[in-house]
Amino acid sequence: MSDEGGEFREIAIVGLGLIGSSIARAVRAADAGVRLVAVDHSAAAAEAACGAGVVDAVAADVATAAATADLVILAVPVRALPCELQALLPLAAGLAARGTLVTDVGSTKASLLAAAASLFGAAPAWLVPGHPLAGSERSGWAAGKADLFAGRKVLLCPTAANAAALARVAAFWRRLGAKVEAMDADEHDGLLAQTSHLPHLLSFALVEALIDATPAARLFGHSGGGFRDMTRLAASDPVMWRDIALDNRDGVLRAIDLFASRLADLRADVAAGDGVALQRRFDRAKAARDAHLPPSEGNPS
Ligand code: NAP
Repeated sequence: MSDEGGEFREIAIVGLGLIGSSIARAVRAADAGVRLVAVDHSAAAAEAACGAGVVDAVAADVATAAATADLVILAVPVRALPCELQALLPLAAGLAARGTLVTDVGSTKASLLAAAASLFGAAPAWLVPGHPLAGSERSGWAAGKADLFAGRKVLLCPTAANAAALARVAAFWRRLGAKVEAMDADEHDGLLAQTSHLPHLLSFALVEALIDATPAARLFGHSGGGFRDMTRLAASDPVMWRDIALDNRDGVLRAIDLFASRLADLRADVAAGDGVALQRRFDRAKAARDAHLPPSEGNPS
């Protein structure tokens, strides 16, 4: 592993759930000398992380942790991110003077930048909005994995002021084995509404619709791999996905409308017995997927 990105000697991670604890484990595996400080609502998660030697210390809140860290990573639910930024308001000048950077891993990006603009007047040079395209339907400290980001993409959002900070955070992620891509926040939210938020909503809706027609035990007791694959995302944290859907309202509504319209077309083809139209749709979809994902890859998040 290269030394690039190893400049951060003290890293604070706020939120020790699936993503935060995976970052902690990955940092620990990449560089045992880094001091890791955790902040979490859950004393149990923080104590478990300390007990396992994954983090070195626990801080009471983000402001305490940021006072000494070189890098602060906000790994809390998207609706908690503005509060965490607000808590950094009194420290803003100190962060800039010390070269401390703040990044996040939230699944939506425009709302974070809007909160930053309203708190700081404009997105500060030390803020790098980010989103690792890695995860799972599981939550919490115990679900974290050191290799969660290996080979996975991490999107970082450029702002008018954060070019230097973005390069440093990109180097950090590369050190954990991730591939970094810069993407505008609005573009991110539009794209991820399609590739992540809509699929999660569809999975929840699929299960929720079918259990009204057929008892759940019968459904899940008589399903093959396809139903299992399609409903995996419905095992995700309902609160997290409620918040993401509301936070990326416009992107999610556009994606739902696009899908609803195509589902209505599909219904019409089935009702009309139009096998040619159906097969044309299925051929297009299969060709697109086959061209871009190997057949075994079924677990993007
Ligand atoms: P998670 O497993 O539920 O972990 C979140 C952790 O943050 C929990 O330990 C939670 O504690 C803690 N927390 C919540 N609010 C906090 C606050 N204000 N201060 C300190 N700790 C706080 O969630 P996750 O899956 O890691 O998701 C974290 C972030 O990553 C979210 O923004 C999500 O959008 C993003 N993300 C998730 C995935 C995925 O696949 N899950 C993928 C990419 C990005 P309590 O449980 O006690 O509240």
